Amino acid sequence: MNDTTLKPSGVTSFQSDNLQRFIFDNAPVRGEWVHMQDSWQQVLTRREYPPAIQHLLGQMMAAAALLAATVKIKGRLVLQIKSAGPVDLMMVECTSDNTLRAFAQWDGHVADNATMVEVTGEGTLAITIEVEGAKQPYQGVVSLQGDSIAAVLETYFTQSEQLDTKIWLAADENAVAGLFLQQMPSEQHTKDEDEENWSRLSQLAATVTTSELLELGVGTLLHRLFHEEECRLLQATELTFACNCSRERVADTISLLGEKDAHDLLEEKGIIEAACEFCNEHYRFDKVDVAQIFSDVAPSSSDSSTLH
Ligand SMILES: [Zn+2]
Repeated sequence: MNDTTLKPSGVTSFQSDNLQRFIFDNAPVRGEWVHMQDSWQQVLTRREYPPAIQHLLGQMMAAAALLAATVKIKGRLVLQIKSAGPVDLMMVECTSDNTLRAFAQWDGHVADNATMVEVTGEGTLAITIEVEGAKQPYQGVVSLQGDSIAAVLETYFTQSEQLDTKIWLAADENAVAGLFLQQMPSEQHTKDEDEENWSRLSQLAATVTTSELLELGVGTLLHRLFHEEECRLLQATELTFACNCSRERVADTISLLGEKDAHDLLEEKGIIEAACEFCNEHYRFDKVDVAQIFSDVAPSSSDSSTLH
């Protein structure tokens, strides 16, 4: 594979916005690689973030794609940070249609080189998996201890899934990327062999650098890390940014307010305005729009009355 050439920052010579699964023929270990450029740029054009928050949000976005690929469901996986630090809320969603969206809300000044703990304070990371049609979503919550999102997620996997998992995440203003390695249960090898394989592969993967994650395509990267292993690429998945908010949804919410409350709001503000946190799209409804919403709901009056 010849995607080794490092191009000037901002240009990738390989297929970005992709998630690639891989396995090892000689060990029960599964892996995933993700790299996103356009999808990440879509997030960044919608809101300007302090560098430290941008860094954390980018890593969360790469993590959401990696985690979503481990669960085979129809629905969505959401990573959400709630914290007492400058970041009030940080949220990334990845759907089974391979779309992602992300945003963060924060308060006050955040130093450019602030660490995760300085940005989040005493916070938690919730992992929510919503399966379409299911009554209750699955949710796991971990406290934000350790020095990175990757470390927090590794703890989560060890505690809740009891699967040894290693995650490496990287983000800059151009792209986000991640590498995921997980030991799978096996019957073909002894426990010692499994341990040895896991230890060897995770140590090889641990040599990965941030710039390798951000600048190399999957073929080159895996060759660099595992060239003496029997590593096999499985299917690749294309990822895109998408937000499912719409004017109709906002109109539905206004109609739920009821005609009186909606009119009170109009009297007060002159206009009803709602902004989508994820994509920063602003929806505005004036008197005419609101009247339209309730005329669609209420039984229609005769048009001919206006002629007299
Ligand atoms: Zn939106």
